[in-house]
Amino acid sequence: MIVLKFGGTSVGDAERVQDAAAIIELQPMPRAAVVSAASGVTNLLLDAAGTAADGNRDRANDVVVAIRAKHANVLSGITDEREREAACDLVEQLHLALDAALDQVAAARELSKRDSDRIVATGEKAMSIMLAATLRSRGTPAIHVFADTVIATDDRFGSARPDRQRTREQAAANVLPHLAAGKSVVMTGFVGGAPDGSTTTLGRGGSDYSATLLGAALDATEVQIWTDVPGVLSADPRQVADARVVPTISYDEAQELAHFGAKVLHPRTIRPAVARDIPVRILSTFAPKEPGTLVIRHATGDHVKAVTAMKGLMLLTIDVPELEDLAGAASAVFGRLHQDHVEIVHVSQASSRRRMTYLVDSGNTGGCRNMRARIEDALEDFEADVSCQENVAVVAAVGDGAASQPTELGRMLGVLHRAGIPVHASSQQSSNVALVTVVPANFAERAVEAIHNAFIGPQPASARGRRQRRDRVMSESMRVG
Ligand code: ADP
Ligand code: ASP
Ligand code: MG
Repeated sequence: MIVLKFGGTSVGDAERVQDAAAIIELQPMPRAAVVSAASGVTNLLLDAAGTAADGNRDRANDVVVAIRAKHANVLSGITDEREREAACDLVEQLHLALDAALDQVAAARELSKRDSDRIVATGEKAMSIMLAATLRSRGTPAIHVFADTVIATDDRFGSARPDRQRTREQAAANVLPHLAAGKSVVMTGFVGGAPDGSTTTLGRGGSDYSATLLGAALDATEVQIWTDVPGVLSADPRQVADARVVPTISYDEAQELAHFGAKVLHPRTIRPAVARDIPVRILSTFAPKEPGTLVIRHATGDHVKAVTAMKGLMLLTIDVPELEDLAGAASAVFGRLHQDHVEIVHVSQASSRRRMTYLVDSGNTGGCRNMRARIEDALEDFEADVSCQENVAVVAAVGDGAASQPTELGRMLGVLHRAGIPVHASSQQSSNVALVTVVPANFAERAVEAIHNAFIGPQPASARGRRQRRDRVMSESMRVG
């Protein structure tokens, strides 16, 4: 049983959807595909919803026209007339439901997270219909399935958490029978269903996560993430020209990379695969014969495999006067961050200095002034000193073997120093698979490049041909995306 996931660029237009269908057809049965919305459609849907909530229904309608045009393009590629017309009807029903939802939002002048999820799921729902019809039109039995009835979640709209056991039961009831009947299943990525049946979403970029959730629920032998780059690369190729494919990485390394900002995988993707030991492969729809990256439990290597950065963070530094207060103060800080739904990216604590640093996503903080006040309030029993810095980025060098060598962090700090990059904080723990530094956000790109140069280096001459091929793939994918 193979699960294949196609990202937005990989189903960006009629031609790309045909290519995706051809890739699915090459896999042995049983097989299930998980699809994203066509590239750009999720943003357009969010834009339409926000604009309607602002009372600008006409402008929201202009956005819907752009969404309709994207879908019309994909529909036009379905060669069998009956299949095309049937798919057009189903997609039209989704568009009409979208119009009605936008009317409601405009009338209420308010966009609830529940409505937002219902609206934004339109992109994946339309794509599942269109890809299944494309497969049938090519003579491959296929059926679309909306994940509201498969991926069971809680009701945290916008970033719902899955319930693995219920998902397994629902997949057995709503997916397995189609597979047993010899059909390829095409399921919506990103989408889930709350306990009351309402549509939820798993967070931006969440289709990768849908794929491993479905894979785990169906005991898949492999999950394939088909995207617009030929695997997990040693850095974001849009940033580092010399980035190259990492052939094998461990679950831990992949999780750290995704956690520290490598967009190629949604941060939660790997967890369901770990639980059932399912290999995950990252492959390019633009170069389907390339081997890509294999993510498995153990991957050897004593070097840094990839460098990544994540911006939009804030650094909280907390000094506690009494050493014995450290644990109590830490507990109060964690409690307050949890209460405020602030996402913690990294924590380090040097107990001898009674100082803790928390690297958090600025998203729900309301800015430094607010965050400081909230933390000072939580720590009022401790006379703690709280400082806060905005616009920081984390830069992580990931590689199991490297992160466990005590010399490597020093080497990384030396590289940053020589490149003139100030470092706010850094950490290395022997049990971790990443060396982590915190730098001002405007130095993040330079830091990634400097670390990549020093630890991974330029492409060997023999790889130049491959690099040129990859550059072609990249420029084509950027043109489509
Ligand atoms: P999809 O739509 O297929 O889900 P995404 O845009 O979400 O694709 O993720 C793929 C993108 O991730 C690539 O185009 C690339 O720019 C970016 N990326 C960031 N870091 C890395 C990395 N280390 N390796 C590969 N791609 C990366
Ligand atoms: N279409 C969704 C998004 O753009 C989910 C995904 O692509 O994974 O966030
Ligand atoms: Mg993605």
